[in-house]
Amino acid sequence: MKAIVKKKRTRGMEFVEVPAPRVGLKDVLIKVKVASICGTDVHIFDWTRWAQHRFLPPRIIGHEFVGNVIKIGDEVTQVKIGDRVSAESHLTCGYCYQCNNGYSEVCKNFKLLGVDHDGTFAEFLVLPEHVLWKNDSHIPDEWATIQEPFGNAVDTVLAEDVSAKTVLILGAGPIGLFATGIAKACGASLIIISDPNDYRLAIGKKMGAHSIINPRKQDVVQTALEVTRDSGIDVVLEFSGNNQALNQGLKAITPGGRISILGIYERRVHIDLNKDVIFKKIRIYGITGRKIFSTWYKTSRFLSSGLVDPSPVITHQFSLKDYEKGMKLMKDGRCGKVILKM
Ligand code: NAD
Ligand code: ZN
Repeated sequence: MKAIVKKKRTRGMEFVEVPAPRVGLKDVLIKVKVASICGTDVHIFDWTRWAQHRFLPPRIIGHEFVGNVIKIGDEVTQVKIGDRVSAESHLTCGYCYQCNNGYSEVCKNFKLLGVDHDGTFAEFLVLPEHVLWKNDSHIPDEWATIQEPFGNAVDTVLAEDVSAKTVLILGAGPIGLFATGIAKACGASLIIISDPNDYRLAIGKKMGAHSIINPRKQDVVQTALEVTRDSGIDVVLEFSGNNQALNQGLKAITPGGRISILGIYERRVHIDLNKDVIFKKIRIYGITGRKIFSTWYKTSRFLSSGLVDPSPVITHQFSLKDYEKGMKLMKDGRCGKVILKM
């Protein structure tokens, strides 16, 4: 089969022919239809510091996808041949303290698809049945593939209620843009989105933001205070992974408000804990992965019901062999979500 393999501990990847994977007793063989590129894949392509410490070549990359089940192991009971599936990218162990206590998104032994287990940028993929998600037939393939990052956005937005609240979204990458649509669907009364990338801010408008801010041209905190008549923002959602943006969020938030943080920071962050957190009595939520599978149900319903239309975020499509074009667009930020068709 054809696959995109990270072979060497240097920049780049290879589009090559590799043997199709073997199916174990509890495994399922999937023919991938559509996959999508995540920032993690770009880190692995570029061989950044994170990738050098985390990734062991050779490995097929990618963790977002939709495909059809074409073969099942003898002990598989929950899926059948022909099912159209996507998957939770955290391959959880199912027996650690976290898995046993309803926190499998922070499973102690999880393996990450496309990092610790051969990934989705291939014609075929093998996964254990317990991580599979059967797709709603109303969701097109181009949307089904983005459910994994959409789920990140769902948990970040819905860590608490947002209805009739004022929301500041920091970072208009694909996940911040999905969050914009979700906050809108959940009845946020005002949504402001901040990003230095004007191309992405324009998509933010289409996703329902009332107001867009380019932090290189405008003062984020001052604007947030102005539009809330000095009250400050009820809900800050951090998707930039930028320390300066995080501090803007902490300054803009109203005392007693909450911030949910999904963004991942390259370095240790600096914040004024006394002034901006403790004396403001704000609630901070660290968000990682998705609730398995409660977030997948919410994601599926947001998309199948029409509550959120993610199509403005899905800006580019390429065939698998042209993946490098997608990687380049992602690096330049001249895109929303890039999908790859087999
Ligand atoms: P992305 O890199 O595509 O988007 C980040 C955006 O932040 C970019 O558009 C960038 O222009 C913008 N940005 C940079 N500096 C900014 C600033 N000062 N103010 C406002 N915006 C700024 O990432 P994504 O795929 O949308 O993911 C969002 C974040 O969530 C990333 O940091 C990613 O690493 C992280 N992430 C975390 C998890 C998790 O489980 N915790 C999962 C997926 C992604
Ligand atoms: Zn576990």
